[in-house]
Amino acid sequence: MAQFFQTNNNIAIVGAGPSGIYCAISILAELEKLNYNDFSITIFDNKSPLTTILPTGNKRCNITNAICDIKEFAKNYPRGEKFLYSIFSRYFTYETLEFFKSIGVETYIQEDGRIFPVSNSSYCVREKLLKKLNSYKNYRIVNKKINSKDDLLNFDKIVLAAGSRGVEGLIKSFNHSIIPYKNALCALVVDNFCYPRGVSVKSLQGDFIFTDNGISGPLAFKISSLRAFSGFPYTIEIDLFEYQKLKQEIEDNPKKSIGNIVSKLIPKSLAQVLVKDYAKKASEVSKKDLMSYSKLKLRIISQKPDGEIVRAGGVNLDEVDKNIKSKIYPNLWFCGEILNIDGFCGGFNLQNCWSGSWVVAKDIVGSII
Ligand SMILES: Cc1cc2nc3c(=O)[nH]c(=O)nc-3n(C[C@H](O)[C@H](O)[C@H](O)COP(=O)(O)OP(=O)(O)OC[C@H]3O[C@@H](n4cnc5c(N)ncnc54)[C@H](O)[C@@H]3O)c2cc1C
Repeated sequence: MAQFFQTNNNIAIVGAGPSGIYCAISILAELEKLNYNDFSITIFDNKSPLTTILPTGNKRCNITNAICDIKEFAKNYPRGEKFLYSIFSRYFTYETLEFFKSIGVETYIQEDGRIFPVSNSSYCVREKLLKKLNSYKNYRIVNKKINSKDDLLNFDKIVLAAGSRGVEGLIKSFNHSIIPYKNALCALVVDNFCYPRGVSVKSLQGDFIFTDNGISGPLAFKISSLRAFSGFPYTIEIDLFEYQKLKQEIEDNPKKSIGNIVSKLIPKSLAQVLVKDYAKKASEVSKKDLMSYSKLKLRIISQKPDGEIVRAGGVNLDEVDKNIKSKIYPNLWFCGEILNIDGFCGGFNLQNCWSGSWVVAKDIVGSII
């Protein structure tokens, strides 16, 4: 081990997830460009590197999103929106996609703006990132869990990129405070659930799918994220379709039953639950009832335990500077989900990793050269 260390600039990165690996590659690339060698990087993880990227985007890895405007992009972070303006102004989706292209990951934009690798494979993304990392010399990966700052006494620069699970003790050992972690982007449990399981609905607020006891899918994830700190129960009224559309359908088909007409606008199995007098002639249904069929009122009682995609909360952003360097502990940086930054579904969480890690890498390189 002694041989591996350089005389100066021994950098520890805790966590070999997307942010830790991207940070390591960015430091290595930058210092190679400068032909500088008096440094070492040790990446600690008790799991195989980039294991956490494998399930992303249903194994397709939703790398980022096509929204081009930084402020519009940042609106997709319930926590961290304003903090990210400065980070994104230095490293954004364009730079990220250029990087991925340079390592052989071509991408495409899906209709909804989400960006995926052409291979549609998170395994491929992992492989290309690790191949790139492997092309450098001054790093090593050590299979070890880091419990506190005392495990890192040999290092003069430390990056915590350990994600958001089980890291409270580690963060506190550096005297940082933590906004308590809460699950976000998860399915929801609905009170008195009586809806058709497995049926997908495209509502005006977003798509969702009925599960065994509630809802999942983009709309559910968004609600779970927005309510991560305010909690449940919470009642939501979902607009299933524009009332005007229903009126038009009735005008065009006055003799049809209300059930059949509503079934044209939402899945039939849901219409069968919502429409009271399914066989009644549509033109005879009261306006109040008609209006009620365009809405679905759900009383959400909790998040579904486990299975969360991301966790809200984390290292308090007031305690880091614009380079995500600690204001409390010397030569300590953070990147990725360990921070109190989380985004909606759509590639926003990984973009936080790519951009934040690059900014941290740049600052570390600046502190060396
Ligand atoms: C099922 C699923 C699908 C997702 N899909 C997408 C998607 O398509 N697009 C998107 O943008 N986001 C997605 N996300 C979110 C995204 O994967 C995370 O935000 C991202 O992985 C965070 O990266 P990170 O490197 O900060 O943390 P992590 O990925 O959590 O990595 C942290 C690493 O640190 C290690 N570690 C933890 N503690 C220690 C310790 N004490 N010592 C040493 N090592 C430690 C862990 O083993 C882990 O390898 C998804 C998440 C899930 C769960």
